[in-house]
Parts: sequence; structure tokens; C-alpha cells
Amino acid sequence: MTEATLIDGKAMAAELAGTIESEAEQLTAKGHQPGLAVVIVGEHPASQVYVRNKQRTAEKCGFRSVKHAVPEKVEEKELLDLIETLNADESIHGILVQLPLPAHLDERRITQSIRPDKDVDGFHFVNIGKLTAGQTDDAFVPCTPAGCMLMIEKQLGADLSGKHAVVIGRSNIVGKPMASLLLQANATVTVCHSRTADLPSVARSADILVAAVGRPQMVGADWIKPGAVVIDVGINRIDVEGEDRTRLVGDVDFDAARQVAGAITPVPGGVGPMTIAMLMSNTLRAARFAAS
Ligand code: NDP
Repeated sequence: MTEATLIDGKAMAAELAGTIESEAEQLTAKGHQPGLAVVIVGEHPASQVYVRNKQRTAEKCGFRSVKHAVPEKVEEKELLDLIETLNADESIHGILVQLPLPAHLDERRITQSIRPDKDVDGFHFVNIGKLTAGQTDDAFVPCTPAGCMLMIEKQLGADLSGKHAVVIGRSNIVGKPMASLLLQANATVTVCHSRTADLPSVARSADILVAAVGRPQMVGADWIKPGAVVIDVGINRIDVEGEDRTRLVGDVDFDAARQVAGAITPVPGGVGPMTIAMLMSNTLRAARFAAS
């Protein structure tokens, strides 16, 4: 059997960033430079890396990029005041609060305090509601599932009529919005989670399998229908056997799955870069809306 096509998220993201950069240049020339504000609370090591990557990409795209690093012990009121200031700042079109937040802060209250038209993460209930209602023209869709959709579209086209999509994971930031987008593209969608019975056989019925679980290499070759498109959202760090180092793996056993799938995303270099590219795309859209 031939190996699956590799869906190169890094290359797709670079191409997308190029388009975004030239559109941003045009907006900037008209006096509307896109502006992205990233708020990071505390010293969470992975969050620091994510924020640095987001800022770097924003700068490459020609955006105004602003970082607000807030101490771990910040009072909730102080953080809400900062968001209020950013909400009112006309040079800022997108606001992102890096998650997770320290336990003393109410994540829901914080994410819902961002103005829906600056909510480039797509976590505000207004944006979630619009996505669920199929009204995506003026909604911000969460970046990870939006990036996954572009990768699926590249393999199968925009109309997924007749295809069975299985999403493993039902989080608000990945699984649920992923299911809404697939449904909107006419796929027949099954959402699985930790209480699903006989997950391998449900997964095996998928023409499109999206794994967003957070369990290293859980999805084996025998979970995959021959020829399926497999999108691996998971980012898990595991020890390398016999060596004093770790490496990143997805939720899919890549080497085994590649022998069965028709197309597959790698980890790293798949969904991750596309997530950042979609954040830039959402910020550009927010700036365009503000300029019109
Ligand atoms: P959550 O922990 O919020 O959700 C995980 C989901 O997986 C839950 O719905 C849970 O079910 C389900 N689950 C857990 N264990 C099992 C199991 N054994 N069998 C079936 N379902 C299971 O995670 P996220 O959605 O935030 O993230 C998922 C993964 O994607 C993580 O590895 C994360 O790091 C990665 N990620 C990657 C991004 C990227 O840019 N590439 C962006 C965002 C996330 P239940 O609801 O029943 O508990």
C-alpha cells in the first residue's frame, strides 16, 4: 500500500502568511495597519513559546503587534481593565488572552470581556453562536478548527457532501467548533469523547478523522479507514526511550497511520502553524471590518 499524502501545514501557513502580508500592506497604506494585542499572564513556559510565535508571525505579516505581560498574581479587575482599554483602542483590531489562565482568574469572564468584533480567537459567545447558526460571514471562527478546515478542503474540496467526519474531542476551542464547520460543509458528523463506546470502530467509519484529545499516539492504524483524511490536532510531549530528551507527538500514531490513511498531518508542522496563520487571518479580517 502507498504511504499517505503528507498535509504540510507549515508550507500552507507560509503561503497564507504571504497573502495576508500583502493585504495588510494595502490596508496599512490606507492608514489602517492591522493591530494585534496579546495578553499573557504569568510565566507558563509553553504559553511563552506560543505567544512569541504569534508575535513573530504578526510582525512578519506587517501588523502592529503589542504584548502585555501581566504578573501571575494579577487581580481579575486589573486584567479586565486592561482588556477594556484594548477594547477602546482603535489601533488594536484583535485581542487575544493566552490560555490557560492561573486558577484564581475566571477564564470565562475574561474571554467574554473581549469585544466580539476584536475576539480573533473566536471564543466569545456571540462568535460561537454565529458559528453554530452557520452565520460565519461576520463571525470569528476559532483558529485551530478553521486551520483544520483549510487542510481538509485542500484534500477533498469545500463541499463534503456524502462524507462521514468523526471528531474525537468535544472541547469548546477545538472539538465543538470543528464539528460545526464540518457540518456547515455538508459532512455527516459524529463527535466522540471520553464516554464514547467502542471508539476505534466509530473512528474506522470516518472518511475524515480529526483527533483533538491530548493523548499521545492514541489513534492507531487499526482506527483508520483506508484512504481517510486524518487531521492530528494533538500536541503531546513524550520521553524519548533510552535518551535524556523529549519530543512532540500528536494524538495519532503517525508512522503506523501513514500506511493506511490517504492523507495525514504531521506533528509538529501540521495543525500548529495553521492555527497561527488563522489568527493572522482573523486579525486582518477584523482590521478590514473596522476600516470599512
Ligand atoms: P481538552 O482537554 O479540552 O479536550 C480533550 C477532549 O478529548 C475532551 O472532549 C475529552 O472528552 C476527550 N478525551 C480525553 N480522553 C479521551 C479518550 N481516552 N477517549 C476519547 N476522548 C477522550 O483539549 P483541547 O481540545 O484543548 O486540546 C486537545 C489537544 O489538541 C491537546 O493535545 C492540545 O494540546 C492540542 N491543541 C493543539 C492546538 C494546535 O494549535 N495544534 C490548539 C489547541 C489544542 P471529555 O469531554 O469526555 O472529557
